[in-house]
Amino acid sequence: MTLKISQFQTLADRLADKTLLRQLNLIDGEWRSAASGELHPVVNPANAARLAHVPASGAQDATAAVEAAHRALPAWSALTAKERAAVLRRWFELILAHREDLGLILASEQGKPLAEAIGEVVYGAGFVEWFAEESKRVYGDVIPPHVRDRRLVVVKQAVGVAAMVTPWNFPSAMITRKAGPALAAGCTVVLKPAEDTPLSALALGELALRAGVPAGVFNIVTTAKPAPVGEVFTTHPAVRKLSFTGSTRVGKLLMSQCAGTVKKVSLELGGNAAFIVFDDADLDAALAGLMAVKFRNTGQTCVSANRIFVQAGVFDRFCSMLSEAVAGMKTGDPLTPGIQQGPLINQAALEKVQVLVGDALARGAKVETGGTVHQLGGLFFRPTVLSGITGDMRMCHEEIFGPVAPLQRFEHEAEVVAQANDTPYGLAGYFYSRDVGRAWRVAEALEVGMVGVNEGGISTELAPFGGVKESGIGREGSKYGIEEYVETKYICFGGI
Ligand code: NAD
Repeated sequence: MTLKISQFQTLADRLADKTLLRQLNLIDGEWRSAASGELHPVVNPANAARLAHVPASGAQDATAAVEAAHRALPAWSALTAKERAAVLRRWFELILAHREDLGLILASEQGKPLAEAIGEVVYGAGFVEWFAEESKRVYGDVIPPHVRDRRLVVVKQAVGVAAMVTPWNFPSAMITRKAGPALAAGCTVVLKPAEDTPLSALALGELALRAGVPAGVFNIVTTAKPAPVGEVFTTHPAVRKLSFTGSTRVGKLLMSQCAGTVKKVSLELGGNAAFIVFDDADLDAALAGLMAVKFRNTGQTCVSANRIFVQAGVFDRFCSMLSEAVAGMKTGDPLTPGIQQGPLINQAALEKVQVLVGDALARGAKVETGGTVHQLGGLFFRPTVLSGITGDMRMCHEEIFGPVAPLQRFEHEAEVVAQANDTPYGLAGYFYSRDVGRAWRVAEALEVGMVGVNEGGISTELAPFGGVKESGIGREGSKYGIEEYVETKYICFGGI
């Protein structure tokens, strides 16, 4: 116990602003324990140290949060967009001002390298800034009438209370990407962060209060068991919108739970991105793009390259370039400067990577580099390149969610496009080619919501992020993102 307390103090001690390490629910503008009084530990995946304890909330706490959000809705949605924008702008500025502390909290609970964690905080803040501005541009329409004495008007109104359920892999950005547009549109929010990473959410809540977000407008409920909280969020009649980011399995479940009260639903789900390197590609650029899109966040990214197709003419060269780069990666404690890859999030994640690599090897794949648990032990896995991958292997159909790059050889464009599309997922796809005609053809043919052509880093608050097929419904970011949080109302004026 002494050890646990001293390790918890280590994180608090490192923070310039210690009050960012909140360990209670945020409900109705107050920091509250769970009604049951139960607690849930938050653990550092790099060393298994306990960082903090947060409420192990249940249905009662979730209901209190929803009711607070419902009470706060009329006043918040009645503000002018400009008034809401001013609050959001302050939130954005506070997030940026505290980026180092927020990055430290994020890296400690999630395991990505500190520089990457700070990068996520800044990227996530961009959504708050963008939607603060975008709130002023939620325009309606005036439609030329079909009868002289009528006027047809369309207005956009806040959906109402918006419930959010977010994953552990981007504990900060997945929240701002949802709460930014929701608050901008005039919705109030109830949020359940992932069990493994609640501290980033609570720190964002603290800064939202400081920014002047009124009591009840932004509520956060932490938990050890998501199902009872999720049930309240998806069945309470006051909740009019669910925005979920996470696995396709849970997304389908929550979507079905929302059916009973016909809620508006946005889903950002799993992916199985293809990364294609054609013979005519700039191989150095393709390598740089792949390293970023595959190994960022230790491969635990929904838009991560899960299947890598390399055309036969450049396969051997690209495989050795990639293997050399991957073998040189620095794995270690996320808080150590220069580290490029941290641990996986938990034991289940590590075991999944081991099982998928084992399955590929049993079916004939070859290890070019890595392939095993890292010498650091714990949750660290060696950055890995596998060749000889074939479509029957499990990792071609399931998200690896780990630092494993599996290479498949292909001959023709039509063949690789068919293979890339041979998945129920449709989130992101990438390819490298210098042929302009091919760039258009393949970009149009890939069945995904987002395509990177000669580019691996495609996410920005300025562009619509989201998937097709079983990767989701709706878009986050850009002018399209705010549409998820407004309803379209038609008003017909007669007798004019
Ligand atoms: P997950 O589905 O297990 O968990 C996501 C969230 O759902 C967590 O907050 C969890 O507590 C909650 N949850 C789980 N069961 C629930 C239930 N019965 N009721 C209510 N909530 C419940 O996914 P994960 O492992 O945390 O995250 C990884 C997944 O997220 C991957 O599939 C990844 O591709 C996906 N993801 C998608 C995007 C995107 O934008 N498309 C972004 C990041 C992650």
